Amino acid sequence: MLLIKNGLVLDPASDTEARLDVLLEGDRISKVGANLAAPGAEVFDASDLIVAPGFIDLHCHLREPGGELSETIESGTRSAARGGFTAVCCMPNTHPVNDRASVTRGIVERAAATASVRVWPIGAASMSSKGEALAEIAAMKDAGIVAVSDDGKPVATARLMRQVMDYCNGLGLPVIDHCEDTSLFAGGSMREGTQSIRLGVPGIPSQTESICVGRDVEVAQITGARLHVAHMSTRASLGYVRAAKKLGLRVTCEVTPHHFTLTDEDVIYDTRFKMNPPLASRSDRDALIEGLADGSVDAIATDHAPHHPASKDVEFDRAPFGIVGFETALALGLDQLVHTGALPLMRLVELFTTGPARVLGIERKLAAGQPADVTIFSTDHAWIFRASDSPSKSHNSPFDGRSFHGAPMATIVAGKIVFRR
Ligand SMILES: [Zn+2]
Ligand SMILES: [Zn+2]
Repeated sequence: MLLIKNGLVLDPASDTEARLDVLLEGDRISKVGANLAAPGAEVFDASDLIVAPGFIDLHCHLREPGGELSETIESGTRSAARGGFTAVCCMPNTHPVNDRASVTRGIVERAAATASVRVWPIGAASMSSKGEALAEIAAMKDAGIVAVSDDGKPVATARLMRQVMDYCNGLGLPVIDHCEDTSLFAGGSMREGTQSIRLGVPGIPSQTESICVGRDVEVAQITGARLHVAHMSTRASLGYVRAAKKLGLRVTCEVTPHHFTLTDEDVIYDTRFKMNPPLASRSDRDALIEGLADGSVDAIATDHAPHHPASKDVEFDRAPFGIVGFETALALGLDQLVHTGALPLMRLVELFTTGPARVLGIERKLAAGQPADVTIFSTDHAWIFRASDSPSKSHNSPFDGRSFHGAPMATIVAGKIVFRR
């Protein structure tokens, strides 16, 4: 038994904001209330801390199988636990691609043996994510996938997207798309604009993303399926999502911490600023913050994309896209969104908990009978992120050395403390 005492409980599902105790028994929450007593229970003093439902990350890359030099399920989930995440959804662009039940089962078994937090695999939409034949979606669902995506690439065509959506509709799975028109992308390395011209780096126009979001929303209108837009980065994309929601379509979206924090003006010749989608304009960034505040954006997701130091230590053009993100996600949310007054704290908690849960079609709340997944954090703890201190095997973060106010203080999964600051 674990008794979390005197914390400020923030539970978006019930709109609870009160100083309460939370009692965990076994792998379940058994009681939430004032002045709980539980003789013999281990006590966690959460005075001055926030007690929230366990954070869920809808989008990460754990690199196993096949990319173990950059990350493993073991190292990645230890980093996730430090970031306050109790469950992470891992994208299928591993080697081999998670396009069949045998690969899904391998990930689930590795996670059971080595992971610090829950690992919920996402299956590929097409075999090898090549955009041709459909992947073994139904068999993967039986093996444990929670969604479908060809992330790393977009679902190749509107026709394939229609097939994938029809198929997933019957199975009750959301389709997550990495929205990108590959013909416009054309070998670019950062957002096309004044800064890309100044740096002489090949640019990627913002429409590369929004054209594909528009396509997907149109196809969702045919199919009525659940569409989730991954790592949305532009004002125009947000416009399509807002319009889709207004029409009553089941369209959701996520935004990463780096896209609500940085812009293309921050890009320098440093491959830790190279990610896909690229850092967008200031106007795009401001639009994302509006969307996070007004409910148009459903979740904050990290797109944690570890790359072994050797692979990032090359010229900007040749470096792979992506940055690590678990451990700075909450702190960036607090610094950029809450401490600035853009969002109330409850809304930030929603974007890490009930928001992503709704995208997956599950419940997440602090109530008796629920899984004992809890994230305890401080809104003012002063600390500095040092990538070299991370249990992740990769250190490709543009936030290395940045100081923050607020951090995860404890992460509890199935009743067990898996991280404590
Ligand atoms: Zn992607
Ligand atoms: Zn990704």
